[in-house]
Amino acid sequence: MRIAVIGAGVVGALIARELTRYDVEVLLFDREPEPGLGVTKANSAIVHAGFHDEPGTLRARFCVQGNALFPRVGEELGVPFRRVGGFVLAFSPGEEEALRVLVEQGEANGVPGLTFLSGAEVLAREPRVNPEVRRALWAPTVGITSPWALAQAAAENAAANGAELHFEEEVLRIRTGHGRVQALHTPRGVYEVDAVVNAAGLYADRVAALAGAPFPALIPRRGQYILLADTAEGFVRSVLFPTPSSVSKGILVLPTVDGGILLGPTAEDLPPEEKEATQTTRTGLSQVLAGARRLVPALPLTEVLKSFAGLRPEPAGGDFVVGPSSLRGFYHAGGMRSPGLTAAPAVAHFLVQEVIASDLGLRKKEEFNPLRPPIPRAEDFSEEAWAELIHQDPRWGRIVCFCNRVTEAQVVEAIRRGARTLDGVKFRTGAGFGLCQGSFCTARILEILARELGTSFEEVTLRGSGSEIVGGRVRP
Ligand SMILES: Cc1cc2nc3c(=O)[nH]c(=O)nc-3n(C[C@H](O)[C@H](O)[C@H](O)COP(=O)(O)OP(=O)(O)OC[C@H]3O[C@@H](n4cnc5c(N)ncnc54)[C@H](O)[C@@H]3O)c2cc1C
Repeated sequence: MRIAVIGAGVVGALIARELTRYDVEVLLFDREPEPGLGVTKANSAIVHAGFHDEPGTLRARFCVQGNALFPRVGEELGVPFRRVGGFVLAFSPGEEEALRVLVEQGEANGVPGLTFLSGAEVLAREPRVNPEVRRALWAPTVGITSPWALAQAAAENAAANGAELHFEEEVLRIRTGHGRVQALHTPRGVYEVDAVVNAAGLYADRVAALAGAPFPALIPRRGQYILLADTAEGFVRSVLFPTPSSVSKGILVLPTVDGGILLGPTAEDLPPEEKEATQTTRTGLSQVLAGARRLVPALPLTEVLKSFAGLRPEPAGGDFVVGPSSLRGFYHAGGMRSPGLTAAPAVAHFLVQEVIASDLGLRKKEEFNPLRPPIPRAEDFSEEAWAELIHQDPRWGRIVCFCNRVTEAQVVEAIRRGARTLDGVKFRTGAGFGLCQGSFCTARILEILARELGTSFEEVTLRGSGSEIVGGRVRP
């Protein structure tokens, strides 16, 4: 039996991993060269508690379940996860009333530990919050993680458990017949399959159309961000939310797992065809600053590292689309707007264990290994242990990225685990993520990628063909 998953974002990669628990051939396709380069690449990275979502929705159900699964998934896959807790801040009587609605929703959804705090209690815990805060909702189960690390680790673990990874391979056609899915066509070949999971992120509507299965239109809803460097670490320690609007959770201030501080996102609905419009705008970034300043007036803007934007796949109807489609053997895991990252482990568990395994009569195999050790980091070792490592392998002593102290040994290990592009190395090791944003290390990483992959310097890309970095040599 052969099952294909289309999309190696956080959702598809976790689904592929879950499928490898069974005695079945698993194929994971993505048109990008690495996992996690779609919606998963640019978001707030919050593991939400589940009080923002209306009771009875799939969003609410999978968010609360996913939040509970995160510590185990993070531990198994070596992905950072910290339960930093979150405050929803109210600055007016109307906003205080909104907190009450959130608590009711949260309690109906089964969110544990929700409590009200006075303005003074908030300021005692987060002194940089706007002193006009009147009251807050405290949610201790809110956490932060690294979405792309999760997608990469899940794909790597799926491969270690037997999944075949097909990167830079776009699914262009889905053959159906006798009311069921039969085969996938990509530029590299035709794959006969027994089942297909559509986890194509912003493109889940188009992939569904390839199979002739109904799916709600997906509207790209852009979110722009400003990221402050880790020199601002500790500026706030928890996730700070405003009271939400009907459209989004609002503009937030939060810590990242790498020590940075993230401000954003905006919520801008774009025309359906603008699925790649990840540019930032002056208006959007001004909105980010205004929204963030409302929560924390004195932002350390001297520490701004970069701005970026992501696109939410906003389904008409507003809820996730998870489960069987009208076509036999064709399953959806789409419309994964926020809190899709949080929900991903629960969606994978539900779709595979409760739907696909019973539909297709899959049997569990004995040898599944859920563990994927993280790539070791220099700071994990004492000076003595590091010296010993250098003694054994001098590449541990060659620093490639000084900002984040990444060594050649880690870059090589990232490549051994599947990194094929500059982004792949960056997202796996943190090289190029620091203060200089790759000004120093890019050339060195290009050299190592070319050497390890046996390609030329000019062939190395930022994120797949068309994004080559070096145009040619000045001297032969
Ligand atoms: C601004 C913003 C903020 C957010 N904040 C949060 C948050 O804080 N917490 C939270 O829980 N969620 C958040 N989310 C939502 C979360 O990021 C998404 O739900 C999640 O990343 C979706 O993952 P995915 O795997 O479904 O999609 P993707 O990561 O987009 O993966 C889909 C993959 O499918 C591939 N693909 C598409 N078509 C094809 C094809 N034909 N053939 C082969 N491959 C194909 C794409 O290349 C892509 O890699 C946020 C989203 C945004 C944009």
